[in-house]
Amino acid sequence: MSKKFDGKVALVTGGASGIGKKTAQVFAREGAKVVVTTDSNIKGGEETVKLIKDAGGEAAFVKCDVRKESDVEAAVAKCVSLYGRLDYAFNNAGIGPDGKRVPLMNIVDCTEEIWDKTLDINLKGVFLCLKYEMRQMFKQKYGAIVNTSSIGALAAVPGFCAYTASKAGLNGLTKSAALEGAAFNVRVNTIMPGPTDNTLLFEYLNSTTPEFGNDTPNMIPLKRIGHPEDMAEAVIYFCSDAASWVTGQCLAVDGGMTLT
Ligand code: NAD
Repeated sequence: MSKKFDGKVALVTGGASGIGKKTAQVFAREGAKVVVTTDSNIKGGEETVKLIKDAGGEAAFVKCDVRKESDVEAAVAKCVSLYGRLDYAFNNAGIGPDGKRVPLMNIVDCTEEIWDKTLDINLKGVFLCLKYEMRQMFKQKYGAIVNTSSIGALAAVPGFCAYTASKAGLNGLTKSAALEGAAFNVRVNTIMPGPTDNTLLFEYLNSTTPEFGNDTPNMIPLKRIGHPEDMAEAVIYFCSDAASWVTGQCLAVDGGMTLT
């Protein structure tokens, strides 16, 4: 039986864990060949590739720090040299103020280092990915890109200043990219996840704030934490022909959390 993305090629950044790991597998489930990338968690990236191959799919791992232009250019080039084209990209690599890798910091305390690191990965990283992905997709006159923002782009949380700015900036960048891509049949959309389990961010937040996992479902109209699968299915929709007239949109996938 033919699959939705047979013959297509997808690139996933931040594919070593969490949302990126699951979405890479769902792209493969739908028939796409997948290039999985991440910066330092090589073991996690290779494990994603193994899971795809074990399930009968095709995938390759490429190390790529999205802050480095040469890494991003090389990752897109690798997609093309391995599989001949690039149809879909999921620009998902990101960091958040989880209390471990990135401390929660109010504006008056936020260091330049934390500000720069957050903006470099979450916003500049996506800009660099868009630059090289769109160049390739423009040549093909075909492509769909999905970025990972956050509901933090819509609602401010104390201590999240750099994160909020990076994700709100990403929503704006999505609209610019969508407008520039439209003439080349390249669509660009964004998902804004709510709190999502089985991610490093969630794990760290849970360990630094134990009540987080217990209290959060009560703040969500649909009364549960999100799963990486919820995000993956939204990404698949945006890339599919079902969304062929949808571009420049930022979709909250959050169980209704931003409605309240
Ligand atoms: P995660 O920490 O499990 O995954 C993040 C991935 O990004 C990892 O694979 C990590 O190795 C990679 N990464 C980090 N820095 C990188 C860099 N410089 N270059 C390349 N890769 C890098 O967490 P996740 O929740 O799956 O995060 C995915 C995205 O979802 C992020 O953009 C995050 O901001 C966003 N998000 C997550 C939640 C949540 O509740 N987990 C909520 C809203 C938004």
